[in-house]
Amino acid sequence: MKNDFKVSVIIPSFNEENNIKPLFDAISKNTKEYNVELIFIDDGSSDKTLDNIKRLVSQHIDIRYISFTRNFGHQNALKAGYDFATGDCIISMDADMQHPPELIPEMIRLWQQGYKIVSTKRKRTKSLGFFKRFTSKLYYRILNFFSEIKIENGSSDFRLLDKKVVQELKNLNEKYLFFRGLIPWLGFSQIQLEYIESQRFSGKTKYSFSKMLHFASDGITSFSVKPLKISIYLGFIIAFIAFLYILYAIYISVFTNNAITGWTSTIISILFIGGIQLIMIGILGNYLGKLFMENKKRPNYIIKEKNG
Ligand code: UDP
Ligand code: MG
Repeated sequence: MKNDFKVSVIIPSFNEENNIKPLFDAISKNTKEYNVELIFIDDGSSDKTLDNIKRLVSQHIDIRYISFTRNFGHQNALKAGYDFATGDCIISMDADMQHPPELIPEMIRLWQQGYKIVSTKRKRTKSLGFFKRFTSKLYYRILNFFSEIKIENGSSDFRLLDKKVVQELKNLNEKYLFFRGLIPWLGFSQIQLEYIESQRFSGKTKYSFSKMLHFASDGITSFSVKPLKISIYLGFIIAFIAFLYILYAIYISVFTNNAITGWTSTIISILFIGGIQLIMIGILGNYLGKLFMENKKRPNYIIKEKNG
């Protein structure tokens, strides 16, 4: 006898051909007692991902898929999943088995206890590789310095949301999605579980360095205007230093005889101020660019085909 609620599991998949079937098996094994609706979001894969999803779809009735016309990115794939999920609670997880399906029953139990959001946090593991661990830690430090809400180191996109929470998410309509920040921002009763991340089952990471940088900068600029304020502080500091230097220059020229034409100091100050200005213009440009793109009201993704 199955429970009378429905659980949606949404899985963004970008070139994960060899992970689809094993993941499906692992999820099925852990969700026997629930009514499950699986939704695969094929994020413009160029390998056999879509074919493998379709093969599963032809064999099982509770699987749905959405296929994008091109790669729109992980967060947009998640959004599509949330947009189409019909369950009473919605679980999002990666396709590469780094998010253990064994945790699903525990997440559902906590949801039944009344938590509207069950988020997860990755435990520190050596298997992750030094570079990823280091950059991830540094990133959350910077993110938390800038942002007004607290986002924990190691937060992941493995989480359960009540359908009410998903309804609120749908109302947000932001172009630059960063669910890890949006979800704590929503409020609701939240609880966090820890899990040990295993190695990717097959294939390699789909987060290239440049995708990671974009993701990182979206996280910061979507949640904070602090970077814009930096220019004011920097301006004050530099003006103060410049003022001291002016005093020094006047002293040299009035009270001493060695008032040489200071080529070095001129060049240094021009370069320095120029550099700071470029940085600040860059930050301004970043925000302006977002306003520009947001204003177009383009959809987050375009669907090539789907079922159900
Ligand atoms: N993903 C996606 N679109 C992308 C990049 C990634 O749908 O443009 C999916 C990917 O298939 C996986 C999840 O997002 O299911 C997380 O990606 P990945 O495992 O490569 O990231 P990592 O675990 O290395 O941070
Ligand atoms: Mg992964």
